[in-house]
Amino acid sequence: MKIGIVGCAGRMGQMLVQEVSKTRGCELAGGTEGPNNTALGADVAVFSGLPECGLIISEDAENLFRVSDVIIDFTLPAATAQHLKFAQKYKTSFILGTTGHDQQEYAAIEMAAKGVAIVKAMNFSIGVNALIALTEQLSTLLDDNFDIEILEMHHKHKVDAPSGTAIAFGEAAAKGRSVELNDVSVRGRNGKTGARKKGEIGFASLRGGEVVGNHSVIFASDSECIELNHKAASRGIFSKGAIYAALWTKGQSPGFYDMLDVLGFKKGS
Ligand code: NAD
Repeated sequence: MKIGIVGCAGRMGQMLVQEVSKTRGCELAGGTEGPNNTALGADVAVFSGLPECGLIISEDAENLFRVSDVIIDFTLPAATAQHLKFAQKYKTSFILGTTGHDQQEYAAIEMAAKGVAIVKAMNFSIGVNALIALTEQLSTLLDDNFDIEILEMHHKHKVDAPSGTAIAFGEAAAKGRSVELNDVSVRGRNGKTGARKKGEIGFASLRGGEVVGNHSVIFASDSECIELNHKAASRGIFSKGAIYAALWTKGQSPGFYDMLDVLGFKKGS
């Protein structure tokens, strides 16, 4: 399968190039970068610390979509609209790891997925997605005598909170209880908050060091406590999951998919 990496000089982009090179059934189709990036003109593989492959990092995203079976995008939300246009034009499956899209951008992704297979996930880790599925199951089993709290810790460079993954855990917990997360979520507590209300889903965020990403989902009743924990040791879990999703798109019908679809973890599947 021919895989193209847009944003191939980024932190995730380089890991994806490495992952493609060592995964059976994958062939690197090329890589792009944004305008004025110092990596433009370099060999895609050499830039990621691999032996030369003869493919040059270019700005020509359209050509990369044309020659690839699937494109993996871990770039910026601003780049998504143009990438969607090319995905639709050339029927190139699209794996979208970029986070931070606004509502309008999200709607455009959903619309594009009517014509081409798109897999979008806030977190491509296979382990995190297994835990998201478990969170939904557990919150279906346990009533609101169990208070749900979500705790995350990330490296000191992270600029947003709570993490997209923590929100995905919250959405799974809310879905299990058939409520909307926005109606029950409490993002951080400080000062005179009053007592916790039944049915709330609370979020707390810690920042420090180079922690890749730790998440806990806690179900606490008056007499017992269940904790689901995930600790990411390296960003490699995201690139492995994204390549897994890329291979999964072979032969898939157009549609808007997430990692639970890819892994077969959807309820009832
Ligand atoms: P990064 O800044 O290291 O890399 C982004 C790269 O995209 C840069 O090299 C940048 O030059 C390039 N780029 C920007 N505009 C472009 C364009 N128009 N065309 C081609 N390339 C372009 O960031 P990163 O740490 O690799 O993360 C990238 C994105 O992936 C972020 O949104 C991050 O939140 C997300 N992310 C998602 C997951 C997940 O599992 N879903 C995991 C890690 C990171």
